[in-house]
Amino acid sequence: MSEQIENGTSSRKTFEDITEETINYFKFISDIGWSGFECSSQNIETLNTWGEISQPVLGTLESIKTDLGNCCRCKLSENRTKIVFGKGSPNARLVFVGEGPGYHEDQQGEPFVGPSGQLLTKIIHAIKLTRESVYICNIVKCRPPGNRNPLPEEIKTCVPFLERQIRVIKPEFICALGAFAAQTLLNTNTPISRLRGRFHDYNGIKLMPTYHPSYLLKNPDKKRDVWEDMKKLMVRYFKK
Ligand code: SF4
Repeated sequence: MSEQIENGTSSRKTFEDITEETINYFKFISDIGWSGFECSSQNIETLNTWGEISQPVLGTLESIKTDLGNCCRCKLSENRTKIVFGKGSPNARLVFVGEGPGYHEDQQGEPFVGPSGQLLTKIIHAIKLTRESVYICNIVKCRPPGNRNPLPEEIKTCVPFLERQIRVIKPEFICALGAFAAQTLLNTNTPISRLRGRFHDYNGIKLMPTYHPSYLLKNPDKKRDVWEDMKKLMVRYFKK
């Protein structure tokens, strides 16, 4: 019983402390000139969202393209003919991400239009989709000279634009074509041969890595592996 009284006393003291603090606070804000609280719906909304992490404005694919402009942020700008921004549906459920533009892409300013692009088109058709219904882009948007691999600095500079494109499109699936795309998006050094064949998570998006079409042109025996990867993608894509 004595404990209950003690606890009750203690609770009442705490309540009195809070009341006194509140009264003192109101006196204080009155002294510094506040006459009351403005309870507009806008203010209530502001209070409700206090502490939430604000998301940067995403914009549209067009506004990202405008921000990119005639980009000279990395050395790949020195030898390029055209920037290859990306092409396809802004509402695509599936985004293909390759490594970087080759000769034909650099000339035309469009992704995957050379021989490996023709093979990618066949792959897209094989999974009952069209180039217009998906979105196709690359890790870097300018052709590395002589088709060399993009350097880490070049990837680091260019990839934020790709990340913005993906955030705007909000696809359900990404197909990473080749080691560079898969390793960059998944932030890993694991070889493509071990990454492919299963879904990975990329910011809540199901990401399927597979071999790059240009690798398939040189290693046609790997087409069967790619077909296995595409079948898994197709099953999930068309799942009701
Ligand atoms: S690769 Fe990307 S960052 Fe580099 S110049 Fe081209 S668009 Fe700019």
